[in-house]
Amino acid sequence: MMSDKYNLIVIGAGPGGHAAAEHAAKGGAGVAVIEKSQWGGTCSNRGCIPTKALLACSKQYANLKKLKRLGISPGEVSFDYAAMKRHQRQMVTTSSLGVQKSLKDAGVDMKSGEGRLIAPREVELLSPEGAAKRLIADNIIIAWGSEPLLPPHIKPSGRILTSDGFLALETLPESVIIVGGSVIGVEFATFLAELGVKVALVELLDRILPNEDKDAADFLRQELTRLGIAIHTSANVETLRETPDGVHLKATQNTQDLEIIADFTLMCTGRKPLLRTDELNQCGIGYNQKGIIVNENQMTNREGIYAIGDVTGGIMLAHRAIQQGKSVAGYLTGDHPISYKEEAVPSVIYTHPGIARVGLTETQATERGLKVETKRVEYAANIMARTDLKGNGFVKATFCEDRLIGVTIAGDDAGELIASMSLAVANGMGKKELKKWIIPHPTLSEIMHLL
Ligand SMILES: Cc1cc2nc3c(=O)[nH]c(=O)nc-3n(C[C@H](O)[C@H](O)[C@H](O)COP(=O)(O)OP(=O)(O)OC[C@H]3O[C@@H](n4cnc5c(N)ncnc54)[C@H](O)[C@@H]3O)c2cc1C
Repeated sequence: MMSDKYNLIVIGAGPGGHAAAEHAAKGGAGVAVIEKSQWGGTCSNRGCIPTKALLACSKQYANLKKLKRLGISPGEVSFDYAAMKRHQRQMVTTSSLGVQKSLKDAGVDMKSGEGRLIAPREVELLSPEGAAKRLIADNIIIAWGSEPLLPPHIKPSGRILTSDGFLALETLPESVIIVGGSVIGVEFATFLAELGVKVALVELLDRILPNEDKDAADFLRQELTRLGIAIHTSANVETLRETPDGVHLKATQNTQDLEIIADFTLMCTGRKPLLRTDELNQCGIGYNQKGIIVNENQMTNREGIYAIGDVTGGIMLAHRAIQQGKSVAGYLTGDHPISYKEEAVPSVIYTHPGIARVGLTETQATERGLKVETKRVEYAANIMARTDLKGNGFVKATFCEDRLIGVTIAGDDAGELIASMSLAVANGMGKKELKKWIIPHPTLSEIMHLL
């Protein structure tokens, strides 16, 4: 029988909580992790995994149309949306079960229920049946995650959905308005347009992907337009109204009126940290609108209480939450502490073609007053890109005093290519180190030799 006293209690089993609990247990700590909903959190159940499962389906379908160039005629192609949704569900289950297995194998005490922080070293566990139990720990990690953020004048409904609601739809709509041209919005737009859905993308700012390199954002805009997506930038949504014909959007675009009607509207207007303020206030834990405030070791202002992942705001990505989780686990157990560096977190946009970045864009670096040198190379200069019909795309690298400080990739396989560049940026490699890199020939990765 497990004791109710632990070295560490983790609240929330998304990527952050999962990584922290698993690594602390492997480092010898007695760990309990509490999950109130689905093991694997947003990423496994409502985020990374279901969206990538659907994008895998639409990509394969869209690619069939390109095969003619290689002398292949696939004949009449069609798709079965119910089978695609089955693939989505299977990948969600596989991912969630993988999380449960690794926690179990590491010896973590897994508790289903809601964890309520009641004092700096105490958590109340409310079981799904409603029973309450007190758990005590030397250290607590808050990994509550985040939730969709909607503009205050827009309320979700049967046809005005967030990504959570959209992923639960079983049938494919004929038309969709996507509000928000950031990562989640452009990924859904790609998936839907590749399956022939009429998509209108409405963005408040004057361009999509406002945080990314401008050339990469322009490149993606062109590609999405080629897919048939109608992109409306500088468009401020005023009303969204459900009518018998669908959803009616009214916006102002550069002083002109913009009206669009579609079956559904998908709101991709960002996410906000899940702040259970009663508990934070009761324990005197500091937070602001951006999230729970932590120091370089992920510790809050209360000794022994840490926070990781989306609940801390910043870059809301799964691998960031994982790295922060591993970092706290290492810090607590003294087992190979891993330092966490926000500037080394890569980000990937899984559109077709994709966009990936690590470190600073040229503009961000210049805004910080750095004197930079930027080099851009085209995919077309690489023979594997040409052979595999991936000729459209580019890599842009930014150097400061010969040190690599940022890379943006726009093109097929961007997400895979950025992995090695993340290692280079995280380790502050310079041109000299990059020259030592032997890259197999012929590969798309060889494009990095041209930098
Ligand atoms: C549509 C979409 C696509 C995405 N795609 C990607 C992608 O491709 N790559 C990527 O890196 N990121 C992606 N993300 C972001 C990624 O999902 C999040 O950054 C990541 O899940 C954050 O991990 P976390 O551990 O901080 O929180 P979460 O994954 O949100 O997990 C928090 C968990 O805590 C639980 N919880 C909360 N409060 C309590 C409580 N009181 N007691 C018990 N349990 C509690 C919740 O039920 C949840 O399971 C995507 C997100 C969305 C919405």
